[in-house]
Amino acid sequence: MKRNWEALVLRAMGGRNFRLTVLDTEPVGDRYRRLLVDGGGLLDACGVHPTMWIRLWFDNGGRPHQRAYTLVDPDPATGRFHLEFALHDGCAARWAETAAVGDTIEATVQGSAFALPEPAPRHLYLVGDAASLPAVNSLLDAAADVPATVWLEYAHDGERALTPRARDHHEVTWIPRGADGEGLVKTVRDAMPATDDAHYWVAAEAASTRDITRHLRRTLGVGRHQVTSLGYWSVR
Ligand SMILES: Cc1cc2nc3c(=O)[nH]c(=O)nc-3n(C[C@H](O)[C@H](O)[C@H](O)COP(=O)(O)OP(=O)(O)OC[C@H]3O[C@@H](n4cnc5c(N)ncnc54)[C@H](O)[C@@H]3O)c2cc1C
Repeated sequence: MKRNWEALVLRAMGGRNFRLTVLDTEPVGDRYRRLLVDGGGLLDACGVHPTMWIRLWFDNGGRPHQRAYTLVDPDPATGRFHLEFALHDGCAARWAETAAVGDTIEATVQGSAFALPEPAPRHLYLVGDAASLPAVNSLLDAAADVPATVWLEYAHDGERALTPRARDHHEVTWIPRGADGEGLVKTVRDAMPATDDAHYWVAAEAASTRDITRHLRRTLGVGRHQVTSLGYWSVR
């Protein structure tokens, strides 16, 4: 597909391009679709880290449409990984719903960088939703021994079909999404403690993510280096 100015900027910033090939597809309940893809050398060239995401280029009526997706269970030995798409009325989600074995899609790797703090935090506080659950799961796997408190917003019961990879010392609370995401924000604001040796990771709808991050930094006084936050999607 023809690329736009975004692709040129990403290339200038060191972005690397790959072609992914769909090897398998499966529904996960009625609100997710999981694809197994061959990364076209992406894992070899770029390595992997928890929450790693890539930019996928979808065809939106002939125009390029770039959206971020998280690598799930990347396997450097085979060069394969999964992508788990939450389904809604969007170009990327529609592509995932109809993707078939043999389909290809362009990907750019630029901007993803995350490492668990060293030494490991004593506790993880994770805030996510259907879009960021793949990343939450990669964190729970990477920090499997670290106690974690996880709040997950869901808009449809089917979004709970993607199982959090929680161990006994991980506490998961599901919160239904109301009209404006206020339920998640209020629950987290009421329950989130401030501690010096914790790490806070927040990735939900953009406005909710901003509210929660502001609360952490300004109200609770949590240090900047203790907080990772990124809006994963926007209400439009
Ligand atoms: C770093 C990063 C990693 C991500 N990883 C994943 C992932 O692994 N799996 C995943 O499913 N998503 C992931 N996302 C979120 C995904 O990129 C967005 O949801 C994206 O907007 C979907 O694009 P679209 O073309 O389907 O819809 P858009 O064209 O962006 O939006 C179309 C309509 O759908 C609505 N919409 C968009 N996303 C959602 C949503 N998640 N829930 C409800 N309504 C929505 C919009 O408000 C709009 O009304 C990630 C985002 C980031 C920033």
